[in-house]
Amino acid sequence: MKLKRKKPKIKQVMTTCSWCGLKIKDEGPIYALGCKKRPEVDISKYESKVMPVKISTLGKTIWSIVPPADSDARREGKDFMFTLCSEDCGDQLKETLDIEKEIGELILSAEHIY
Ligand SMILES: [Zn+2]
Repeated sequence: MKLKRKKPKIKQVMTTCSWCGLKIKDEGPIYALGCKKRPEVDISKYESKVMPVKISTLGKTIWSIVPPADSDARREGKDFMFTLCSEDCGDQLKETLDIEKEIGELILSAEHIY
């Protein structure tokens, strides 16, 4: 039997570091990574919601946020985003995603958002 993972709420994902799981304080700086998906992947069902992203190299799933199709982020080519507690976590996640985009089916590119 497959273990059923509880889907987190969008607010929860937005206030939790995707990399280390630390809670992000409201007043603290929020770092984010914006990712571009491969054109053939349809993520429309995740719009304004959280989307699980399987990281094969880590053997785990982390949660991302998909902005609505008509948002500025999407127009700028950021199809989904990861929130992070620090630049350090951002660097480590980006490194992982850079490997993932070579072997995975979802990610085309990943970049820092400041
Ligand atoms: Zn972190």
